[in-house]
Amino acid sequence: MRILVQKFGGTSVATEERRAQVAAKVLGAVSENYAVVAVVSAMGRGGDPYATDTLIKLATDINKEMPARELDLLMSCGEVISGAVLAATLQSHGLRTALLTGGQAGIITNAEYGEARILRVDPQEILRELKAGCVVVVAGFQGVSEDGGVTTLGRGGSDTSAAALGVALSAEAVDIYTDVEGVMTADPRIVRDARILDVVTYNDIAHLAHEGAKVIHPRAVEIAMRQNIPLRVKSTFSDAPGTLVTNSQPDRAAGADMIGDRLITGIAHMPQVTQITVDISGDKDKPRVVRQIFKSMALAGISVDFISTQLDAVRYTVKDELAGKAAGVLQNMGITAKTLPGCAIISLVGGGITDAPGVMADVAEVLAERDIEILQSADSHTTIWVLVAGPRLTEAVQMLHNKFIQFN
Ligand code: ASP
Ligand code: MG
Repeated sequence: MRILVQKFGGTSVATEERRAQVAAKVLGAVSENYAVVAVVSAMGRGGDPYATDTLIKLATDINKEMPARELDLLMSCGEVISGAVLAATLQSHGLRTALLTGGQAGIITNAEYGEARILRVDPQEILRELKAGCVVVVAGFQGVSEDGGVTTLGRGGSDTSAAALGVALSAEAVDIYTDVEGVMTADPRIVRDARILDVVTYNDIAHLAHEGAKVIHPRAVEIAMRQNIPLRVKSTFSDAPGTLVTNSQPDRAAGADMIGDRLITGIAHMPQVTQITVDISGDKDKPRVVRQIFKSMALAGISVDFISTQLDAVRYTVKDELAGKAAGVLQNMGITAKTLPGCAIISLVGGGITDAPGVMADVAEVLAERDIEILQSADSHTTIWVLVAGPRLTEAVQMLHNKFIQFN
């Protein structure tokens, strides 16, 4: 049995017209003799009646502190409704379907409600239905804990469901259908000539996704990568080939980019972060202050980023909305911090950076040309991060894209 997992995002299933296009994708796969598992997100975006944000609001407008377990049960309904509507649509096109919740599909998670991790997938039920000739429609974003609680996998988690099912079923591929034509070299709202990548490695896409490119959930990439299951990011609304996520080198003769040729694969950005600087140049016991700073953030449940501790200063970033809380926590300990809100992290991601001289020189050159200050920088073997003031973000990304993303 050749199994194909097709995942359809919220905008793809939002209207009758769009669901007809989804049905065409499923019918296309069935006609190619695939056994199809269709994983769905909740229909539409916040404000639409059955979208996840709308469901959350239903309860939290009444009680902000709704227990996570109950909120999960509520949220999980969005995908169940979406699945039922898609199943009905597919039936109207003459297909036989089996509709399963995440739990019924065998997705077993831990009991961390709202952010549950998948422990294992028992695909027996899906396999039984596929063998019986059904298209299996699975409600994404959810699973069941070992003690039977309905869990959700964190926002954007339907991608994770699809990847986990793809691995458990040894699917030929997992197709992530969305409203854009693939993974782009930068956000097209900022960079007009951003383009679709034909092919990208798991590693690069996972980094881009972590750094703010919203096209696929990074956890889904990590799961697919473990078993080398190809992911394809495609548009529901066109026949464009989309972006293939893989480890292997594509065939240049087939017109694809050579992964190995390029230095930078894509540029992601994350706005609305605050840089926090604590001057420790005068402190005698620096290790103690450093420990105090990060311990206090941890205890306050504040996730820190872009961490840089030096002998004269400790710098890190937090989300803008947590800046006040972070500054308050530090102040309570008698630590004076400088906060710079409204910054943006720009990430240049590419496996080609490894051991290539001159990349940072080019970054500095490009930004200097426009007098854009680098507030902080860091790097790994596949990424260079720079922090810039929010108002300079657009220009900085455009300049860097011009410099690094090759057109062929
Ligand atoms: N509906 C869920 C969300 O909005 C899951 C998803 O769309 O992937 O986060
Ligand atoms: Mg999504």
